[in-house]
Amino acid sequence: QPLMVETILSDAVERFTIPAEQKNIDITFRSHDLLPKIYGDRDQLDQVLDNLISNAVKYTPEGRSITVSARRRSDGFVVVAVSDRGIGIPQKDLEMIFERFYRVDKARSRNMGGTGLGLAIAKEIVEAHGGTITMDSRYGWGTTVRFTLPPCEPEVIR
Ligand code: ATP
Ligand code: MG
Repeated sequence: QPLMVETILSDAVERFTIPAEQKNIDITFRSHDLLPKIYGDRDQLDQVLDNLISNAVKYTPEGRSITVSARRRSDGFVVVAVSDRGIGIPQKDLEMIFERFYRVDKARSRNMGGTGLGLAIAKEIVEAHGGTITMDSRYGWGTTVRFTLPPCEPEVIR
């Protein structure tokens, strides 16, 4: 059954409004285009969003902002971005970041709690849906995780 990406994203943002407010962080959701529907497992896609937004909240200092946005790429794929102005990730860690149990700087991670599985699980789910996931980050500046999802085939008209 086709899923509306806008609904998945705005529901996810809503789930994090209160935890973010506790750190005085604003989360906003913007859709830049009319998005095609996608096929997928709603629970699994919710898991992807929870993993990415929980990281953004966890690794963003008080008072900064988080943006969840979506657009339609020219090939029809939906591109979702979760973007924060948080602590960022050093360049050298980026290529390993989607590996299971990989965590940046053991000292900082220990204080934060967690197992280092969130991104690995997100990648597994996105790829199982026919998409890809990437991370851009600047240490001390912020992080953006982007993932894609293929659109439903156009319906056959008869
Ligand atoms: P878990 O998600 O299992 O609770 P975790 O958050 O440590 O634990 P991942 O979500 O896989 O694990 O993230 C791996 C590491 O990447 C984190 O430990 C953190 O160092 C870094 N990281 C992930 N997202 C961000 C982000 N938005 N900003 C800064 N660092 C991040
Ligand atoms: Mg995590």
